[in-house]
Amino acid sequence: MSDRSSSPDDRQPAGSRSAHYPQTVAVQPDLNIPPNFGSFSPATHRGSTVVFNTLAELRAYGDPSKTYWRYGLHATPTSEALCQQLAQLEGGKHTLLFPSGMAAISLVDFSLLKSGDDVLIPDNVYGPNRDHADWLARDYGVSVRYYHPMIGAGIAALIQPNTKLIWLESPGSVTMEVPDVEAIVAAARARNVITAIDNTWSGGLYFQPFDKGIDISVQALTKYQSGGSDVLMGATIVRDTKLYERLRRTRMVMGWGVSADDCFLVLRGLQSMPVRLAAHDRAAREVAEWLLQRPEVTRVLHPALPQCPGHAEWRRDFTGATGLFSILLHDRYSRKQVDDFVEALKLFAIGWSWGGAHSLAVPYHVPTMRAPGTWPPAGWEHAGELVRLYIGLEDTRDLIADLRQAMDATLG
Ligand SMILES: *Cc1c(COP(=O)(O)O)cnc(C)c1O
Repeated sequence: MSDRSSSPDDRQPAGSRSAHYPQTVAVQPDLNIPPNFGSFSPATHRGSTVVFNTLAELRAYGDPSKTYWRYGLHATPTSEALCQQLAQLEGGKHTLLFPSGMAAISLVDFSLLKSGDDVLIPDNVYGPNRDHADWLARDYGVSVRYYHPMIGAGIAALIQPNTKLIWLESPGSVTMEVPDVEAIVAAARARNVITAIDNTWSGGLYFQPFDKGIDISVQALTKYQSGGSDVLMGATIVRDTKLYERLRRTRMVMGWGVSADDCFLVLRGLQSMPVRLAAHDRAAREVAEWLLQRPEVTRVLHPALPQCPGHAEWRRDFTGATGLFSILLHDRYSRKQVDDFVEALKLFAIGWSWGGAHSLAVPYHVPTMRAPGTWPPAGWEHAGELVRLYIGLEDTRDLIADLRQAMDATLG
């Protein structure tokens, strides 16, 4: 085994082990690699097979105090490093990794819900989370109900004896309302209902869910943790060890695993995440303030601005904002004009999955995404089409000039 032959105590002349023929040497060479290579980077341990020293070790499978490493699908030293760092950053204790943020969301549902159970989900939840829930309702006999994201303490009236899980997302996708997490969690705790939050927007840095009593945090590591728009990965983070074991068992039977190379890339991204988030925050607020002054824009849905629903909750719960927010254009503009505006942008690319260095823009027609008749909210004057903006790491002077030229060209 290369592991043993590379140990400094086991140095033997080349070919002195039982390898006599080239094909054996091709598989089991005698290596002599000096230890203590002092790199800052974590080692990338790829591995499906984990090699045990004895059969007793192998048979202790299932008792992590005796045999920690078992199979590359479940954990490697590289994935473990990422798990521990993510838990530390978010104030949790245990992390599970997934090949996407969506897989992490799915795992939470499949771990906690069975046929006949009920789940409450905010009406502004990340779209694929909604599609997943609708699929569970259609094909798996789960009861799925959507609640208004600003329901607050009113959620108590929706909790039924079979309600097993309440999802939260703060701020919610696209429309950016910040829910009253404290009120929702208090109602859930009073009835012993588990809460899970999609905490992707804050990167796990600007909102600490476990301090608010939330049970599970989901992160799309694809976004800020990676930071490069080139890795897909997700995580569930929890504090409670029993709940962790429940999620871990489901992950194991479902066969979710991640690549050590992807873990390495996310670990690299984490080193700069706090300074990147601070830069996104500064830039996004500057662009948002500029947009507030524009006559084409009737509302800027940025949690740090008073006109965003849940601004007070954001001030109470968050220590910063990040790069993603939305604007409502005046209802005098048609959907076609708004599409033209987005296509006229030169520095903002058209695409999903924010979190990287490049700015992005996508238009949304919200009334068809929400419970009928709830969008736009009552009293919002001239609330037209929504455009979601992601402010990357370009200079804001260029980004603002780009928004101005696209508005001038298309929103006359
Ligand atoms: C992108 C995203 C996800 C899903 O992440 P993927 O890795 O793309 O599956 C989940 N929640 C939110 C809020 C997201 O923005």
